[in-house]
Amino acid sequence: MSENFYITTTLPYVNAAPHLGFAWEILTADIIARDRRARGQKVVFNTGTDEHGQKIWEKARERGMTPQQHVDEMSQNFRDLRELLDISYTNFIRTTDAHHMAAAQEMWRRCAQRGDIYKKKYAVKYCVGCELAKTESELVDGRCPLHPDRELEVREEDNYFFRFSRYQQPLLDFYASHPDFVIGEGKQSEIVAFVKNGLQDFSISRVATAMPWGIPVPDDDTQVMYVWFDALTNYIATLGWPEETSDWDAWWPGVQTCGKDNLRQQAATWQAMLMSAGLPNSQHILVNGFISVDGQKMSKSLGNVIAPGQLVDRYGREATRLILAGLPVWSGDVDITWARLDEWYTAHLVNGLGNLASRLAKLASTCDDWQSWRAPEARSSELLAALEKFDTSGGLQTIIDRVSRCDAMLSEKKPWLINDNREKVQVLSTIGDVFLQAVADLSIYMPEASECLLAHFTAPAITPLTPMFPRLAKH
Ligand SMILES: [Zn+2]
Repeated sequence: MSENFYITTTLPYVNAAPHLGFAWEILTADIIARDRRARGQKVVFNTGTDEHGQKIWEKARERGMTPQQHVDEMSQNFRDLRELLDISYTNFIRTTDAHHMAAAQEMWRRCAQRGDIYKKKYAVKYCVGCELAKTESELVDGRCPLHPDRELEVREEDNYFFRFSRYQQPLLDFYASHPDFVIGEGKQSEIVAFVKNGLQDFSISRVATAMPWGIPVPDDDTQVMYVWFDALTNYIATLGWPEETSDWDAWWPGVQTCGKDNLRQQAATWQAMLMSAGLPNSQHILVNGFISVDGQKMSKSLGNVIAPGQLVDRYGREATRLILAGLPVWSGDVDITWARLDEWYTAHLVNGLGNLASRLAKLASTCDDWQSWRAPEARSSELLAALEKFDTSGGLQTIIDRVSRCDAMLSEKKPWLINDNREKVQVLSTIGDVFLQAVADLSIYMPEASECLLAHFTAPAITPLTPMFPRLAKH
């Protein structure tokens, strides 16, 4: 195991408030980062905000602000996730940071030196919602399927292009030699199929007079960089690249998380850019699906949006972490409803862990000559094996199983019926071993609850516990 570990989320586009899908992504990255720290690795955990491009420029004008004022305000919503969900990121990069802008220009220069950037007339259908050019095959009824309410723009201008097509074979070779490069059910084969189908060179700049909100193209200030080409470089800019003096290569290559709508950009475009610049490819791309609500995509117009803050209001911060971590993260889309989230919370926190902790504390408090329980020396091998594969939800399941095992042991041994004090202390201690293992394993999911339970149950005498997870009020 190397000394250093680097993980980064995608940088969400600042235009909207953080949505539940991104909360899920950053929480998953947080659990992985906490796992690596617990294994003794030094961790850089990067997140931040993507702040250039037409959508932002338009929105700022709509609000009567400068783009910089607009992004300064919006970026804070994402920084606030740290407190809201107890996210332990170490780096927060903004694509408007001076260092990032210089790094993006250096990336451009290196790709240009390799002969991968050229100028060409550009006429294409463009979805401003995605900030992406769309090919005919991607359109549904002539519209972007993700933004059916937006007209596609037809654009024709002189632009710089990135020679993406040159990287078809190198990418296919890379995927073949790294069969677990993309983690997420079916996602590696999806990207292989996409690249096999042929790669089109794509525009990586815009005429500055048409849309000035971007990083200037090196040696041509009539053009600004296309937002994706600019933003992707953040993953290494945050490590100090490209300065010779920096230790960025002690951290790179790293592990990247993304939502499934980002698969192509992360697993193909960004990898081709790295190859072009002569830099090592990422280590893994971890791809989570979309969260829908009762079978429907979340949308303002349907009024079915569940925001991360609403979960915290209802369940509390740590319980929200656990509920989100319990959604199977690498097996595609998941569907939730408030009723099912309530049910999960009640089953696993009120009745599961919470009830077990209360019962054990109450039983222990009735014993004489108490033998202090000791915290386990290490986290369980089942948890470590799951996290080795970045399987955060599978890891949580091993903890839930352990809690169930304690419940079963309690029902079988019925320590409350045992009159002999020594025997009772003994039986409780056997159950306590399993329980404290579950509690110790919880440290990366619910850091505060784990610490508090460990302290309570390893004290010289165990006192009754006030319920940690209140029953929910009816909706
Ligand atoms: Zn779109």
